[in-house]
Amino acid sequence: EKLIFNGEFIDRSASKVDVEDRGYQFGDGVYEVIRVYNGKLFTSQMHLDRLIDSAKKISLDVGYTAAELEILIQQLVTENQLTYGTVYMQFTRGAAPRNHAFPVDKIQSVFVAYTKVIPYGGEVKSGKQAITTEDIRWLRCDIKSLNLLGNILAKQQAVEKGCFEAIQHRGDTITEGSSSNISIVKDNVLITHPPANLILNGITRRVMLHLCQTNGISYREESFTISEMMNADEVIMTSTSAEITPITLIDGKVIGAGTPGPITNKLQQLFHQEIEMQCGR
Ligand code: PMP
Repeated sequence: EKLIFNGEFIDRSASKVDVEDRGYQFGDGVYEVIRVYNGKLFTSQMHLDRLIDSAKKISLDVGYTAAELEILIQQLVTENQLTYGTVYMQFTRGAAPRNHAFPVDKIQSVFVAYTKVIPYGGEVKSGKQAITTEDIRWLRCDIKSLNLLGNILAKQQAVEKGCFEAIQHRGDTITEGSSSNISIVKDNVLITHPPANLILNGITRRVMLHLCQTNGISYREESFTISEMMNADEVIMTSTSAEITPITLIDGKVIGAGTPGPITNKLQQLFHQEIEMQCGR
């Protein structure tokens, strides 16, 4: 298996990270995870645009266009004969003597990409459990930054309680999961936090909203409260890894009927059709 290290296809054992890489020391970088179905990159354009956008927001020059990156990672998928899985990619600002401020002389950003196998069944998922936790992260959650301590600490709390996801809230308002977006369904209307600085504008979320639009499912991009979520008919988490996953128990309390709801199931079905349409099977 190969990985990409600064544009070169090399073995993992041959790659090395400088101890003063700013990603390693400060989390000074950005990343993306792109799903591969049937050997094809799914929604890669949106992921690559978001990667370049995130980099811009921290004044990091990636030195590649989205089209150039797409060619490179498609080559990696082919080289590694990946059929179902993910491509992880990240850019750090590069290596320089440790100092919070950017290096005065321009340094080369460091680009890494590698693949991982994930089995894909396309089946309807069972309901998962979640906890709620205060969102302690910074105010630029729109940037897909390598700084993930807030997210990691939230997820760890969930895992220690035997749960799948931690749903974060700022005061009374639900923002997003530790590595996912959260939506609710109430009276047949899907409600999800608007894309702003407090959440990552998830691509699975965007595909789901498109599917709502084209299939007559009403939705609103509006924030909702903890109690609105606890009293919702359905709660849905979305991410590249989790796709569209029903949440049926939160903080030990049953959501709706306690089983995946009809709109969640319908959206999962439509999502798998969308994957087949774009990637085949
Ligand atoms: N929010 C956060 C904090 C995430 O880490 C993720 C996963 N990348 C998401 C939302 C979902 O985004 P996407 O659907 O693009 O994977």
